[in-house]
Amino acid sequence: MNFQSASRAQLEAAEAELAQQYQAHQSSGLSLDLTRGKPSTEQVELSSSLDGILAGNYISEEGVDLRNYGGLDGIPGMKRLFAETFSIDVSRILIGGNSSLTLMYQSALFALQFGLGGEGSAWNQESGEVKFICPVPGYDRHFSVCEHLGIKMIPVAMDENGPLMDEVESLIKADPMIKGIWCVPRFSNPTGCVYSDEVVDRIAALAGIAGNNFRVFWDNAYAVHILDDEAKELADVFVSAKKHGTEDSVLIFGSTSKVTFAGAGVAFMAASSSNLAAFKRHLGFSSIGPDKLNQQRHINLLKDATGFKAHMTQHAAILKPRFDIVEKYLIEGLAGSGIASWLKPQGGYFVSFDSEPGLAKQIVAMAADAGVKLTPAGATFPYGHDPKDANIRLAPSYPSLEEIEQAMAIFVVCVKLATVRKMLN
Ligand code: PLP
Repeated sequence: MNFQSASRAQLEAAEAELAQQYQAHQSSGLSLDLTRGKPSTEQVELSSSLDGILAGNYISEEGVDLRNYGGLDGIPGMKRLFAETFSIDVSRILIGGNSSLTLMYQSALFALQFGLGGEGSAWNQESGEVKFICPVPGYDRHFSVCEHLGIKMIPVAMDENGPLMDEVESLIKADPMIKGIWCVPRFSNPTGCVYSDEVVDRIAALAGIAGNNFRVFWDNAYAVHILDDEAKELADVFVSAKKHGTEDSVLIFGSTSKVTFAGAGVAFMAASSSNLAAFKRHLGFSSIGPDKLNQQRHINLLKDATGFKAHMTQHAAILKPRFDIVEKYLIEGLAGSGIASWLKPQGGYFVSFDSEPGLAKQIVAMAADAGVKLTPAGATFPYGHDPKDANIRLAPSYPSLEEIEQAMAIFVVCVKLATVRKMLN
């Protein structure tokens, strides 16, 4: 039924029926959770052989004893593995600890406090408030990094091609204190969109407008997390940056958090040689080197880009049925209703759902009352504030197939009931 063109009598009848369904769900006492963008137990099991995989061999290919100190930027084999898998020149790669978020936080902190571009380049030495562009909806922890470091966030909407670049460019032209932009360019969190070639090229060109101190935080967290073999490819941001003479503006991040073990994987960043040199100079004060044994474990498990890809195919086989259930319930329950929209992701970990304006918080609260925990409405926006109160992030990776079925049935009822009630008021 299209709710927008329904008569008042039809809406009243729908309300009565939906209220009954909602009550039935409420009294069934379920406890379901669609909030967590983390791999399921089945997925982490795929990498269980990491434990013990070294079998007493602690010496790297180059003859380095991996049990000892050193190797601030990682071991060559791990750099090669990421370079091959992400099609990045190996000389640009730095291996971190277990978390790419840590590398992003450190990059923002170093750029703010010390500068990544040499003497006098620290953002906080310029007069004015440092600002970042935050494409929305986006990843809440990017926003927390900004909030914690006192960087003001400017939201810019996205469509299926990425951030709206006319707006990004005109904001940057008008304000020299905009020093960065967060990007999740392939299978964005949460919309799942893949930035178009044009958007990638325009982002790479931003430093030409903003100046040398501008940095693109290119968080390619989901680059290899494909659900659909036909998934859109992402253009190479370094190729565009080279063309525009802006290579120092691009910082790429990624990790194996959702490839092997979330929390015990390996992270990397990729950047120009001058950014890497500056980053390492500051990093060296806080670390003598990352966990090289874990890097070697990952090399042994994943081997090369082909091994990496084969491993991700196994993840996809576990994840795809979960996303299919979400899509099935959204289509059967809400397609053509005129009250909801979403994008079908070809990869990543999320489905981004938009209700009618002003209803997201209420839908999340109603779902919670019926036993379904959803990501708090607003979490996908800077300062937790979704001006339209419309976006809800669905994360189906962790629950079982049966739990997702139950949760989605309840979610759809909550969306319809909240909307019908609003229309009747
Ligand atoms: N970046 C994005 C976009 C994410 O969604 C996540 C986790 O959900 C991360 C980074 C975290 O990555 P890591 O575990 O490497 O710190």
